[in-house]
Amino acid sequence: ELYNKVLDLKGNIRVFCRCRPLNAEELAGGASQVVDFESARDGELTIKSNGISKKIFKYDAVFSPEANQVDVFEDTAPLAISVLDGYNVCIFAYGQTGTGKTFTMEGTKDARGVNYRTLEKLFHIIEERKKAFRYEISVSVLEVYNEQLRDLLASDSQPGLSAKRLEIKQVGEGGHGHHVPGLTEARVNNVSEVWEALQTGSNLRAVGSTNINEHSSRSHCMHCVMVKGENLLNGECTKSKLWLIDLAGSERIAKTEVQGDRLKETQNINRSLSALGDVISALAAKSPHIPFRNSKLTHLLQDSLGGNSKTLMFVQISPNENDLTETLCSLNFASRVR
Ligand code: ADP
Ligand code: MG
Repeated sequence: ELYNKVLDLKGNIRVFCRCRPLNAEELAGGASQVVDFESARDGELTIKSNGISKKIFKYDAVFSPEANQVDVFEDTAPLAISVLDGYNVCIFAYGQTGTGKTFTMEGTKDARGVNYRTLEKLFHIIEERKKAFRYEISVSVLEVYNEQLRDLLASDSQPGLSAKRLEIKQVGEGGHGHHVPGLTEARVNNVSEVWEALQTGSNLRAVGSTNINEHSSRSHCMHCVMVKGENLLNGECTKSKLWLIDLAGSERIAKTEVQGDRLKETQNINRSLSALGDVISALAAKSPHIPFRNSKLTHLLQDSLGGNSKTLMFVQISPNENDLTETLCSLNFASRVR
């Protein structure tokens, strides 16, 4: 049976799919690749495997394992930099652990990702526009772990997961705006100050956990770039936010395999990722009720999702046949988000 899944993505929600390369170990073990990128230029990828005749998925962009950080950023930049024009923007990396979420967002020193490149570009544009606009940029870094928020820039934040608990407070008319009292907002004037702030954040994240890889796959890491803009010609002011979010691993862990704390953790991850899917698909369907309150993640993003705001979801996948079940789950999740 030929199964065609064509996503018609309109409006302000974009889905990009990125596939990591097979790694050395997989190549040495003769892993077979089940994702075909012949039509990647048209935003299509095809799953070809013995068990399944053929499945075609269509997204706003598809990045094959050969695509590099520059290629990915070129397509991401227009949306990301619109924060300077007053738009709220959310960029997520979703997918199974090990598929490249952190690679896409943070990258490495030699292959920097979306986070760094975006900030670099923002400061570049701010410089170009300085005769007509004045901007103030600040950043917050926080982590959501087990439905608890943790401020990763707080200087008094104790190492360990028992650090001061932050809460989300509703403010303003109709409770639509909200903020997190006590969350550190670091003023930054150039990209190296941003880099410092981001390093502080990831160091603090590492300190609190016995196994950083394990921990980072179980928590959402959220960077918020807050922009205050003033048009010097007409005095008009804007306030907007750009969220850069490395989500917890989406792999479904069978409830029978885990107990106690680990079970609660798993339930919290599943809950928040499905809450995110529910919110984005409700927004895409222009549903009158958007269920923001079902998780800390969506609650935090309430004023940055929907309305005029722009959303980009990177769905990260593995090309390996052994990961096919998770890959299909991720691709289907992405299809729901439209
Ligand atoms: P995740 O954050 O989803 O768990 P990582 O970003 O840590 O996954 O990626 C797992 C490994 O694969 C890392 O060593 C990373 O550098 C590598 N990797 C991921 N995506 C790519 C890519 N597109 N090109 C090269 N290496 C990649
Ligand atoms: Mg990661």
